[in-house]
Amino acid sequence: MTVQEKIILLRDELNTHNYNYYVLDTTSISDFEFDSKLKELDKLETENPEFFNANSPTQRVGGTVTKNFETVTHKNRMYSLDNSYSKEDLLDWEKRVQKVLGTTETEYSCELKFDGASINLTYENGQFIKAVTRGDGFQGDDVTNNIKTILSIPLSLKDDFVTDFEMRGEIILPIDGFNKMNEERLANGEDEYRNPRNTASGSLKLQDSTEVAKRPLDCLLYQVVTEERKYKTHFESLSTASKVGFKVPKTITLAKSIDEVFDFVNNWDAKRHDLPYETDGVVVKVNNLQQQEELGYTAKAPRWAIAYKFKAEQVSTVLNEITYQVGRTGAITPVANLEPVQLAGTTVKRASLHNADQIEKLDIRINDTVFVEKGGEIIPKIIAIDFIKRLENSIPTKYATNCPECNTELIRSKGDAKHYCPNEFGCAPQITGRIQHYISRKAMDIDGLGGETVDLLRKEGLIQNYADLYNLTVEQVIPLERMAEKSAQNMIDGIIKSKEIPFEKVLFALGIRFVGETVAKKLAKHFKSIEFLMAADFETLISVDEIGDRIAQSILDFSSDLGNIQLIDRLKVAGVQLQVSVESLENQTELLQGQIFVVSGVFYQMSRNELKKAIEDNGGKVSSSISKKTNYIVAGDNMGPSKLTKAQDLGIAIISEQDFIDKIH
Ligand code: AMP
Ligand code: ZN
Repeated sequence: MTVQEKIILLRDELNTHNYNYYVLDTTSISDFEFDSKLKELDKLETENPEFFNANSPTQRVGGTVTKNFETVTHKNRMYSLDNSYSKEDLLDWEKRVQKVLGTTETEYSCELKFDGASINLTYENGQFIKAVTRGDGFQGDDVTNNIKTILSIPLSLKDDFVTDFEMRGEIILPIDGFNKMNEERLANGEDEYRNPRNTASGSLKLQDSTEVAKRPLDCLLYQVVTEERKYKTHFESLSTASKVGFKVPKTITLAKSIDEVFDFVNNWDAKRHDLPYETDGVVVKVNNLQQQEELGYTAKAPRWAIAYKFKAEQVSTVLNEITYQVGRTGAITPVANLEPVQLAGTTVKRASLHNADQIEKLDIRINDTVFVEKGGEIIPKIIAIDFIKRLENSIPTKYATNCPECNTELIRSKGDAKHYCPNEFGCAPQITGRIQHYISRKAMDIDGLGGETVDLLRKEGLIQNYADLYNLTVEQVIPLERMAEKSAQNMIDGIIKSKEIPFEKVLFALGIRFVGETVAKKLAKHFKSIEFLMAADFETLISVDEIGDRIAQSILDFSSDLGNIQLIDRLKVAGVQLQVSVESLENQTELLQGQIFVVSGVFYQMSRNELKKAIEDNGGKVSSSISKKTNYIVAGDNMGPSKLTKAQDLGIAIISEQDFIDKIH
């Protein structure tokens, strides 16, 4: 076998495994084997650059950075869809269609309307060429590099299809993946994303495709656009598309009559909440492509298709009370306590009111009758007040002035949407919340101790703060509810083991406001010990890369608090890691101090992440884009040509992986 044949074989194999996994949902190879084949291919491609191919499976890992997305004019306009809201609307539409066509012989494709971001994928000769967002329908943004990281999108087709075509579909974020992203954000002290749709479309415009690659995006395809007349019906074109590699939803159903369309609508209206992603309606399309052509377009939408919107489920109920929740950082969230009511299959008793502005905007008052809706979001929301039912003696809502838990006066800083309870050390949910954060998986990761037990330990007066954990004994814990000797021992063992957790995680665990996982890493690396961090002044803090005023101030507040100083002293006595370990210092030097690196391409002796870590460990800085400030580009294989030109134009030194390794040894 020649090298070229070997490369082609590996690409085919990897493409097939990708297709099996991401489109068909079946596994045909172990992760390990897949990775080693990918590495093998990568190596062959590097050694034989003449066989480079932009659509090779090695090109999907991300790594490109786009500062400005190029505007591209669509070859075929991307139309909207006309909407309908009732069966009568659908019947009227059918009448219009049949009148134009002069026949009652019409068949329909019934599809779910996915809620994401529409995308137009161009293919030529079985190869993926580019991906463009819908934009205003005439022009969109070229997001090719970001789209390539979505593994359910085929880059080369498995079999013959149309030669020249565009594939249209929707980029979506499945609900599971969305929830996982939010869990991570919460654990990092970041705000949650609002809904999957905005997060999906926002993802397409991220500048760093490596970030896009990390997001669990998917792409569902629903339209082949081409001049070639290979297929007679829309349905046929899609089922063939699915055979050559595209992820076409299995829910697409052929309807022989409008009654069968109604069946589809009714069925999914009831079952849509069981789907792994969000849908807000149905799209009905005339199936025959010749008929589609005859029907054509209005100024805005095809005449051969119509969307049917599901009614967002809505009920009205009475607001009994507004209560306020206190989070671990002291942030206050107002909660509407409702007269229990059935909605979309669940009993709703509470709805979030977000913040004071939201309450004012709604003008919501106790005893009001309110409309509650469950859209795509998991938590129901109050969309409006039924003012007709408002009681005459109702009183405008005054936002809480004091903490519901500790009665301290709330504060709201300029620019903050939320009110805060400043009583960090005396406010029960903040105390408990901080300890719960301390023991959580991404922080001290204490086995054998969970959030509820923390609550219990607090209530029993056994702990007041996280330092108290280290004084707990098995004997103290055994008498607790649902505690046996074994579980008590596990818990104490877990606490002891947490003394080995590295400093950067400890720093995150401390729960300093605005110090999430990433910031904690930066600070640990820079200051190396809690003493140096706590002794730093404002200027020193903001001189650290990516540390802004807000974070700096929060660290100063933390460090100047006597309670915190005592806590840290006790952690030190307990033996918790409050400085970077000797081992991790060992590999660290100042050899690259002040130098800025850009990393591009594929590497062999270490992974891209290891390379970046090595740069940082040796005092250098990694930047994602080339600028005048860049000192070196570490170029692996297949470095992007635009990067190469830019580097050459700016006269920046381009070094190899080996050159880099030599630098730090
Ligand atoms: P609208 O934005 O309300 O005008 O609806 C048109 C959009 O619906 C299209 O741009 C697509 O992004 C989206 N859509 C979702 N599912 C489908 C589908 N099955 N067929 C056609 N369009 C769809
Ligand atoms: Zn409080």
